[in-house]
Amino acid sequence: MVVKLWSADLAGIQAQPVTVEVDISNGLSSFNIVGMPDTAIKESRDRIRSAIKNSGFEFPGRRVTVNLAPADLKKESSRVDIPIALGIIASSSKRLFSPAALKDKMFVGELSLDGSVRPVTGILSISISAAANRLSIFVPEANYCEAKAVESGNVTPYRSLNHLIRLLKDIEPVSFPDCPDPKISENFPVTLEEIKGQAHAKRALILAAAGNHNLLMYGPPGAGKSMMAKALPSILPSMSNQEEIETTMIHSAGGILKNKSIVRVRPYRAPHHTISHIGLIGGGTRLNPGEVSYAHNGVLFLDEFPEFPRRTLEVLRQPMEDGIVRISRASGTVEFPSRFMLVAAMNPCPCGYFGSKVRECHCTPTRIASYRSRISGPILDRIDLLVNVPQIPLEQMVAGSTGLTSRDVRELVEAARQVQFRRNSGPNAYISETRPKEICRMEGDAETLLLTASRKMSLSSRSFNRVLKVARTIADLEQADKIQAPHIAEALQYKISDFFESGITYD
Ligand SMILES: [Zn+2]
Repeated sequence: MVVKLWSADLAGIQAQPVTVEVDISNGLSSFNIVGMPDTAIKESRDRIRSAIKNSGFEFPGRRVTVNLAPADLKKESSRVDIPIALGIIASSSKRLFSPAALKDKMFVGELSLDGSVRPVTGILSISISAAANRLSIFVPEANYCEAKAVESGNVTPYRSLNHLIRLLKDIEPVSFPDCPDPKISENFPVTLEEIKGQAHAKRALILAAAGNHNLLMYGPPGAGKSMMAKALPSILPSMSNQEEIETTMIHSAGGILKNKSIVRVRPYRAPHHTISHIGLIGGGTRLNPGEVSYAHNGVLFLDEFPEFPRRTLEVLRQPMEDGIVRISRASGTVEFPSRFMLVAAMNPCPCGYFGSKVRECHCTPTRIASYRSRISGPILDRIDLLVNVPQIPLEQMVAGSTGLTSRDVRELVEAARQVQFRRNSGPNAYISETRPKEICRMEGDAETLLLTASRKMSLSSRSFNRVLKVARTIADLEQADKIQAPHIAEALQYKISDFFESGITYD
């Protein structure tokens, strides 16, 4: 008799149901798994054989064949250990279960040699897939809270192969672990009120949050650029349910969810400049998401921006443009979402003290220019805001913060975003390059000011559009219907061309 069970595996971040068929027939003792790459089969067979024996069952001395379908899904993971072991036990000792005990159920879990079960990655997606297919799901106890985040799901936790069998035979009651309250979310690494001084840079941060604009900060080492970036998640609008699920699915697929059941705070990722392409974009033998996907719906902070190899930065272009990473493999293409806000930081020159009032800079203009030119034009084209973060005098640090709290700012930002969604069904940063003037309507002297300024500063049409989008965000924060001259005047202060196009100027 063939025993058939449901399990699941991941393709990218999406789960796909997998059927596990186990057949035990007479013949020479053998154990074959069909539908799994050779490298994974051997390890899987060893784990399953030992776990079955160490759980007090006999491994059948006959011909054991396991088929995993669909065949085109590359099942490299250990998620299917448990259903295979369960199928073998059910098929060899028929008195143990009635076949009905395995019906309409999905099983996932990696086995240890002693028969206990280890948590697996991607549980949220798997739990969603189980609920969609009207299957109840059995998950390793450590995965329970994550699986339970799917409201319509019917989730049972188990600790070992033996424990699972006792649950299925109904001879042990299910014990559910306590899950942390998912409503507690105000756990930000840094809040705005903790940053002293830096009113101008804080304002840029608020604009970035309000319009989802990419931001570049420059200033000497130790001025607090990374602290500013870290404060961003505290002022970004809270995530919608859909965004939380998406973000959690990605973190879960990559195994970085730790003990959280669901991600409630927008992610903040800050990879070092020595990161590999695969680390940044995703891929590798296990097909993990990269930092750009872990930052999905949140912030990707790249400190010491010019230190990132040019080729590494170039690979950012596609995810920044499409909001999605596509990785092609022999087995097909997987997609990872990657809609993040880029926040970059750099020193103004190689030594870091160009324009500083505290220390002298010894860099030659040629070195400074070549340092800045390491950032390619196409990447700069996607950055809307540039802001200087100077070293602030000690008096100001002692004087305290400007009184703005993250909570107040978040309310303003959320109101501004709502206006943008009503107008353009997306934040201002995503206003299409072809129709900014249609969406960003001006009144009074605003247009004259923008035209005069762009002639005087010889702004490219791209820079012109970016000033317009930022002005739209400034107006949205004031709930102003049309852009006015003061909004344009402020937006002009953040234009990127000052730093990169007009040469080396002293403030
Ligand atoms: Zn210098």
